[in-house]
Amino acid sequence: MTCDQWPMTINLQPLKMTKFLIPEDNFKTQGMRKKLLDQVREKGISDTAVLNAMMRVPRHFFLDKAFLEQAYSDHAFQIGAGQTISQPYTVAYQTSLLELNKGDKVMEIGTGSGYQCAVLLEMGTKVFTIERQKELYDKAKEFLPQIGYRPKFFYGDGYKGLPAFAPFDKVLVTCGAPFIPNDLLQQLKVGGILVIPVGAGSVQTMTKVIKKGPCDYETNELSQFRFVPMLSDKEWGG
Ligand code: SAH
Repeated sequence: MTCDQWPMTINLQPLKMTKFLIPEDNFKTQGMRKKLLDQVREKGISDTAVLNAMMRVPRHFFLDKAFLEQAYSDHAFQIGAGQTISQPYTVAYQTSLLELNKGDKVMEIGTGSGYQCAVLLEMGTKVFTIERQKELYDKAKEFLPQIGYRPKFFYGDGYKGLPAFAPFDKVLVTCGAPFIPNDLLQQLKVGGILVIPVGAGSVQTMTKVIKKGPCDYETNELSQFRFVPMLSDKEWGG
């Protein structure tokens, strides 16, 4: 299979029994996923490598099994701890903006359910993912490896990034940031890309920053989205 064909076909493989009750990925769920991704494509996502990566990630694994229909509709959905799994269109949009290459070192801010992280891994990247909510961090850290996804997990503050692991080829923020944190710009390689929804209110502007030189950034403001807020230490009570 090459990555530039759509629709792709995937081989269904039996899943190991694990502590989590993992639903099956069968022809029904695969068909639902294909329909969903056709909708995402119709909404303007033409990056077949991204669509194919999303076809390989069973989104219903990331929601309670009662929410199969929701897993395959193009909407964000509650995942507990007051947070959401991003809308599939948004995941496709952000992933496309990153212009990922195989082997890229990517920092993700906001692990949440781990769904976006799985899509990044399916693009052949190495992912360093940070989550601020202990409950979500613990759950993702245990669950993702059980379905075959092995990023590096960090429980910490996304505003600070991961200086010890920098520089990164790409940085993806999956919560709404009131401003572009300087630490994240610093931790980007020259030639790297930061994708971040920026806006302090309920609406954010998707922003793509390309690092042209050590202190030279090209900033592109794109479409509007709604994200859960990127919380600072103060808002967290930390
Ligand atoms: N990528 C996730 C989307 C989760 S929503 C997914 O695919 O499911 C955004 C996440 O960002 C939430 O889990 C929230 O707890 C987290 N978050 C908010 N502020 C943060 C911060 N300062 N550092 C790290 N994570 C943060």
